[in-house]
Formats: sequence, C-alpha cells, structure tokens
Amino acid sequence: MAPIISRFAPAPTGYLHLGHVVNALYVWGMARARGGTVLLRIEDHDRQRSRPEYDAALLEDLAWLGFVADGPTVRQSDRGDIYVQALDTLRRQGLVYACACSRAEIVGAEPAPPDGAANVGAELAPPDGADQGRPLRYPGTCRDRGLAEGPGVGLRVRLAPSVERFTDLRHGAQEQRPSEQCGDLLVRDREGNWTYQFVATVDDDAQGVTLVIRGDDLLPSTGRQLQLARLLGRRIPPAFFHHPLIMKAPGKKLSKSDGDTGARDLRATGWSAAHVIGRAAALVGLVKREEPLAAEVVPRLFSYHPQP
Ligand SMILES: [Zn+2]
Repeated sequence: MAPIISRFAPAPTGYLHLGHVVNALYVWGMARARGGTVLLRIEDHDRQRSRPEYDAALLEDLAWLGFVADGPTVRQSDRGDIYVQALDTLRRQGLVYACACSRAEIVGAEPAPPDGAANVGAELAPPDGADQGRPLRYPGTCRDRGLAEGPGVGLRVRLAPSVERFTDLRHGAQEQRPSEQCGDLLVRDREGNWTYQFVATVDDDAQGVTLVIRGDDLLPSTGRQLQLARLLGRRIPPAFFHHPLIMKAPGKKLSKSDGDTGARDLRATGWSAAHVIGRAAALVGLVKREEPLAAEVVPRLFSYHPQP
C-alpha cells in the first residue's frame, strides 16, 4: 500500500471554526492512524478575500488545538508559477479559452443541472466566483467566440463529455458527469484569481497527495477534479473520503459567520482545546458522548476504519 499523504487546506478568509476542527479531526485522525503524512496548505488563491490576520490566526488556533503538520506550510499565493505551468499544459492540448461571462449571465442562461448536484462548497473555503451559491452549469457561451485574454476576462478549460467513476472511501461507488454537471471549468476568474477547483487539483498532484479528506459538500465536485487531474497528466488519482458536515438546522451547513462556533471565541470563554475537539467530534457523530478529546488521541477514533 502506498504511504498516505493527506492535507489540511483552509482558506484564510475567516477564523478557524468547528467545521474546520471536524475536518482536522478526520485528516489527522485517518492519516496518523495509518502512519501517514499531513501537509498544511493555506488556500489563499482568492486575493480579494484572503487576509494575513486570518492566515496567522489559523496557524495559531491549529497549534493551540494540537494538530501538527509535517513539512513547511505551503501558500497558494506563492505558487503562481506552478499554476501557470499547469495552465500551459492545458493550453498545449487546445483546451483553454477566454470567457467574459458574469455569474449573472450564466445564471440567466441555464437552469439548474439535471442531476441536481450541488455545485457548491470549497474545502471549507468559500466557493469560487462562478461556483458560488446555487447549482450552476456553464453553457459554453464563449467556447467558440475566440475572445482575447486580458484583464476582466476569465479562463475556462473545455471538459469533454465524460463519466467519472470512483470509490469514495465512505460513500462507496460514485459516478459523475462533469460536463453535464458544471460545464467547462473556470480556472481563472474575471478578477484574475485562480479558482479553487483548479489550484486544489494542481496542488494535490504537485504535492503528491494520495488521500483527500474533506466535507460532504465537495463530493459533487470530485468528478471534475478527477477529469482535470487527468488532463494535467496525473496518472494515479488520489483517493477521496468525504466526511459529514456539522448541520446547524436541517440541511443547512455551518457557516463561518456563525460567531459562536469560532475556535478562538470558545477558547476566550474558557474552553480547552480538548473540549473544542470533543465538541466537534460529537457534532458529527464520531463519538457517542461528548467529552474532552486531545488531538494526540484522535487517531484512535479511526483505528477500526477499513484501509483505503
Ligand atoms: Zn463565457
């Protein structure tokens, strides 16, 4: 079995909250239970929304909780050259084209996708421009317009019709059709930001990530990442495990705007790190009874899971 390399990849667009703690529990727990590696990647690809103070706070809160990553912290804002190279790989295949559409134009052009798959969510990060909010399929408006690239114009990659089959390590066999679900994938938005789907896929490949552990909201986007990874030349795709999300109300995902769930807010009111981790574990049913749980014993929760 190949060694497990997983990653924790928060976006510095807010403070660490219980949703992050749940993800950290699964990432460190599953990786460490199998002697694997955990990389820390700060997903600050959205230059308008990322803030240095959130970046610093994420590191501080993570250290306070006791989750320690292996190797240096990687920031997407330092990796522009790698993304340009990846884009060139797609260009050489004739797959990249400029797109001038605004989200409002795409919403107006197309009804929700037939499979109803949610095109939302981004690794605990707010979704990218065109992925934000309700399900959205790009109808290919600019595919053959031959628009010039430049400021104010986005870039998309053509996704040929494809059926992506994979086995999610929690949900089992999956089948997704990215070109029907989301259409041609936005890789750089009109503001010049790389998109989450693109950089996460490039980074997972470049960093040799073998096991992607993330929330259920991202399950519908796995197929497009697999298809994109293949176009980028990745031969062996990572395995995926999608974990439960904390639900505030039926069907409603916990948001980082819910101030009462911030790790540092809980800390400020006297919670210990073990109490915060214990609460997160209980909220997604990892433990039956809520009790303090230190980061170093978290892997024991996963020692009975099947090997990926
Ligand atoms: Zn367009």
